Amino acid sequence: MKEDIKNLTLEEITQFLLSRGEKPYHAKQIALWIYRRNITDFAKMTDLSLKLRQALETNFSIQKLILKEEKISEIDSTRKFIFQLKDNYLIESVLIPNLNRLTACLSTQVGCKFGCIFCASGMRGFIRNLETGEIVDQLQSMMEEIKSFGQKVTNVVFMGMGEPLDNYENLIKAIKIINHPSGMNMGARKITISTSGLPEKILRLAQEKLQVELSVSLHATNDELRNALMPINKRYPLKELLSACKEYTSLTKRLITFEYLLIKEVNDRKENLRELSELLHGFKCKVNLILYNPFPGKEFKPSPIEKAILFQRGLQRKGIITTLRQSKGSDIEAACGQLRRVHAMQEDRANRDASLVGTPE
Ligand code: SF4
Repeated sequence: MKEDIKNLTLEEITQFLLSRGEKPYHAKQIALWIYRRNITDFAKMTDLSLKLRQALETNFSIQKLILKEEKISEIDSTRKFIFQLKDNYLIESVLIPNLNRLTACLSTQVGCKFGCIFCASGMRGFIRNLETGEIVDQLQSMMEEIKSFGQKVTNVVFMGMGEPLDNYENLIKAIKIINHPSGMNMGARKITISTSGLPEKILRLAQEKLQVELSVSLHATNDELRNALMPINKRYPLKELLSACKEYTSLTKRLITFEYLLIKEVNDRKENLRELSELLHGFKCKVNLILYNPFPGKEFKPSPIEKAILFQRGLQRKGIITTLRQSKGSDIEAACGQLRRVHAMQEDRANRDASLVGTPE
């Protein structure tokens, strides 16, 4: 199969052009056709020579994700999309409205190998990394879907299925395409990478000189609790993670946001509040408290709102910038991995029924 040209950054397209004796400026023209005019046929790139169009056709394809399902929340208008990949695996992406923002939440892997116990994405294990083009195309396809409503995506967050920093090269290439003026033209500061906390990759990211935002999922205030909620903590305990975060902040001069899911009677106790204040004491950061979004098969419940407000005020009193938000799209399984999981369960059921039909008595 020919390589998807969306897997190439503009610099890589330029290298291809130079290797064929073509002018480098054609890279911008090609990108504008693909990302702004949504062209999927090289023959339609009419400002390129016939020779170049044929060379592109010989070497590359322009892939599109197949939209399998779209769900809109009746509660908060969050829109969830299920896309089918070329090898038939399903991924999900979400559009989250919030005041004057519309944030696209993108997936970076099919499944996830990190197995956080509150998350639906890891429940069926890891299948594969998404290619760069598959990451970018989630954004492009969602933008196309909402264009007719006069809506525009204002922010991008890599917080869908998978651990973005575990698919590092493809993630960074996707960010470069999304950020490039001839690509999706989204400001780097409008792009957030959300990680479960891989210290080596956090330090590598600091060297990229990208102006993107970084948020780290903390969700626990001591190693014992974090080991239980997020197995990655056994490999990278809190001390190592927070030390990498401090170094990232000092190298990039950028604030890190710590995400903290509030789960009833798991991590919302008084001692958790005290431990969290101590962990983040003197750390230039923000904390984003999120009420847990429950889903079938997990016994966790969100903290009561009164408790969440107390938690927020307690952190604010310690001088820590803290926001509190509700998970969006609770009626459409919008938390990461949930809708794909429902699909997968339906497919399992269908396969089981089919095999029962085919089983001789
Ligand atoms: S929370 Fe993120 S890292 Fe953890 S299992 Fe889910 S997708 Fe993977």
